[in-house]
Amino acid sequence: METIAPLLARLGIELKRYEGADLPSCSPIDGALLTRLRSDTPELVAARIGQAQVAQARWRMVPAPRRGELVRLFGEELRAHKAALGELVTLETGKILQEGLGEVQEMIDICDFAVGLSRQLYGLTIASERPGHRLMEAWHPLGVVGVISAFNFPVAVWSWNAALAFVCGDSVVWKPSEKTPLCAIAVQELFARACARFGSDAPAGLSQLVLGNAACGAAVAEDARVALVSATGSTRMGREVAQACARRLARSILELGGNNAMIVAPSADLDMALRAIVFSAVGTAGQRCTSLRRLFIHEHVYDALLARLKKLYLALPVGHPMDPHTLVGPLIDRAAFEAMQAALAAARAEGGQLLGGERIAPDAGPYAYYVRPALVEMPDQTPVMRRETFAPILYLMRYRSLEQALAWHNAVPQGLSSSIFTRDLLEAEIFMSAGGSDCGIANVNVGPSGAEIGGAFGGEKETGGGRESGSDAWKAYMRRATNTINYSGTLPLAQGIRFDV
Ligand code: NAD
Repeated sequence: METIAPLLARLGIELKRYEGADLPSCSPIDGALLTRLRSDTPELVAARIGQAQVAQARWRMVPAPRRGELVRLFGEELRAHKAALGELVTLETGKILQEGLGEVQEMIDICDFAVGLSRQLYGLTIASERPGHRLMEAWHPLGVVGVISAFNFPVAVWSWNAALAFVCGDSVVWKPSEKTPLCAIAVQELFARACARFGSDAPAGLSQLVLGNAACGAAVAEDARVALVSATGSTRMGREVAQACARRLARSILELGGNNAMIVAPSADLDMALRAIVFSAVGTAGQRCTSLRRLFIHEHVYDALLARLKKLYLALPVGHPMDPHTLVGPLIDRAAFEAMQAALAAARAEGGQLLGGERIAPDAGPYAYYVRPALVEMPDQTPVMRRETFAPILYLMRYRSLEQALAWHNAVPQGLSSSIFTRDLLEAEIFMSAGGSDCGIANVNVGPSGAEIGGAFGGEKETGGGRESGSDAWKAYMRRATNTINYSGTLPLAQGIRFDV
């Protein structure tokens, strides 16, 4: 508790009303207990959803540009507290400070995006077949939006959803990962401060936080008052949330596991490719949904690239994530370490040749799990390669033709992010075409990790098909109304039907 007290003071946050016994917050940096919090009971979750529903009934009547003003004020709070919130993200997730700060910047960026959006939310007018009629489409607020988020982006994922939801006229009920409750509390408190500055137009209860484990998330997914559930996490979780939503015919946005690949073509700029590979594969200790996990290298450049990769991997600074020289922090917990070791054992059994992967920095304490990122040369795309292991393991294969590389690329159940490094225009176009990468994100000369908020984010197949953040992702947070207005003074029917009464 001593360690986080100064940080919470900088954020101006009191933990008292969240404290309890059953929800510990630990830091993966040294495994130390930061504090103990209280999970919400099912009754409390239900009550919070009820409050969010009441708040939304008022909020939807506030003009959208005014709703944008609240998000603008929240962006100001984030700017003022970026350093402290970024540190808290690092403390609770173990990602390096630059990435903790980057995550808060992403929140600021989506707030800016949402503020602009609040003066748009465009509908359409459509040519009517009837004389003296106007046909149009308008977008209205949807209702209560449930956000279930994962540990690895403990603040940004909420903001991708919430910033849009608030300008769209919705209220939000957030169930963060049980591994990162402090980050969620901090964000909730900063948002409450923005609401206080905004004044009485912001109804009490607009943003609700429910703390607890999977059961708490399931309670949100099952509640008939939640119009949309946006769930980010494992494919296992997504299947359960999808079924809960389907049972009550509610909307869902699913942002689930990835198994992202890169193709390095013979014409690639290898210096650039190398930087992209290392950042994408070991950033956040391989615990990003967009982390690079499979690398297909053309046989002409395979040996040269592998030699440089090995050298870089052996020298990677792994250690305390607050140290500015560190590039790889700890894994989130023991379960993550064990999953990594199990995957490496499977890879070896399936013919893989391994470099790295071992536990290091034992002086960090018995409950901290630092690992050297692993490179595994594979003879074939075996079953272990087709699974997502949420750890810094990069599988490598040698390819001869782009056709072969693309076939391997798409032969996994997940479809989140992908990239090709090539200077051949035709290869780049093929990769991005209908017959190319089957992922939601397909990049050229950019790694698969580190998306900007301006584009729609999400992926296909077992990644869940959801889209969040930029482009027209906002439409999922609103309901569409089709309106026909008759100013003709007569009543012609559509399809030319005659119905004389
Ligand atoms: P997780 O699935 O264990 O937990 C995610 C969240 O879901 C947590 O808040 C958890 O309490 C909740 N949850 C679990 N079971 C639930 C259920 N049955 N009903 C409702 N809620 C439930 O995932 P994690 O370990 O926190 O995160 C890692 C996973 O998240 C990886 O698979 C990663 O690829 C994925 N992820 C995906 C994206 C994306 O945008 N596609 C982004 C970040 C993380």
